[in-house]
Amino acid sequence: MKIAILSQNPNLYSTKRLIEAGKKKRHDMQVVDHSKCDLIIERKKPGITYRGEALTGIHGVIPRIGASITFYGTAVVRQFEMMKVFTAVESQALVRSRDKLRSLQILSRAGLGLPKTVFSNYSKDVGGIIEKAGGAPVVIKLLEGTQGLGVVLADKRNSAESILEAFNGLQARVIVQEFIKEAKGADIRAFVVDGVVVGAMKRQGKEGEFRSNLHRGGSANIIELSDEEENAALKAARVMGLGVAGVDLLQSERGPLILEVNSSPGLEGIESATGKDIASMIIKYVERNAEQ
Ligand code: ADP
Ligand code: GLU
Repeated sequence: MKIAILSQNPNLYSTKRLIEAGKKKRHDMQVVDHSKCDLIIERKKPGITYRGEALTGIHGVIPRIGASITFYGTAVVRQFEMMKVFTAVESQALVRSRDKLRSLQILSRAGLGLPKTVFSNYSKDVGGIIEKAGGAPVVIKLLEGTQGLGVVLADKRNSAESILEAFNGLQARVIVQEFIKEAKGADIRAFVVDGVVVGAMKRQGKEGEFRSNLHRGGSANIIELSDEEENAALKAARVMGLGVAGVDLLQSERGPLILEVNSSPGLEGIESATGKDIASMIIKYVERNAEQ
């Protein structure tokens, strides 16, 4: 099969691992930088050119679209869909996963556990908003943030109010969320491929840090999920429409709470924590679905 990894950087761990896993199965693997694709849209003949040459004969694509290029990357994925090429992440699901608010709405409709979350159109009643999220301490998150940047813990009512006022003044959209103290600065990443949790790790923030992101200095260890956690992760990936997903959850007194669902989850952390060959599982997923 001819499989393309949509990635802006062929040297990233995840990109390299997917190429390696595909080659091991004797597939014709190619890295395509979506930011350098041109889309040709005409009656019944959708096409893509890459560095000036027509892209043809591709059976499947694995999108690894960075958050900053979601708009263009999604258009490229949609074009592949129009060309009847199988994509490991559908364009619709990709867009959905990049909108934190819409994701939370979809997860809540599915009945999944979530930290209580409040969103408003820069309401002047910052005290009321914080109260609705359960009162301080609260977590305030930039809607556009990733890798833990733009996620702030506000301990006291006063600081929560001033932080919220500051963000509002900058016209930065934020959500205000109940702080899940009993998670103790840790979260769980469940890696889902094709309806199965293929690996899970617990990430612990460094000393004195409530954010567990590896990018913020957190550390990761393999973990066995409870049935409830596993079911929550699978359902979250399913309702988001993602065949490949990194589901982040917090362990709370009222069970697992979904934080977010990533559509381009990194392979490095999860493969080193679990020792599993997750890249090959993603290749297998493409093999099963792409038509030759
Ligand atoms: P990002 O998408 O930037 O990673 P997250 O919403 O996942 O942002 O938050 C980053 C980290 O902060 C999480 O992995 C978790 O450890 C911690 N965190 C986020 N929200 C909460 C919360 N409501 N209660 C407790 N900890 C939280
Ligand atoms: N690759 C990083 C991770 O898996 C960040 C991208 C994402 O949000 O999945 O934690």
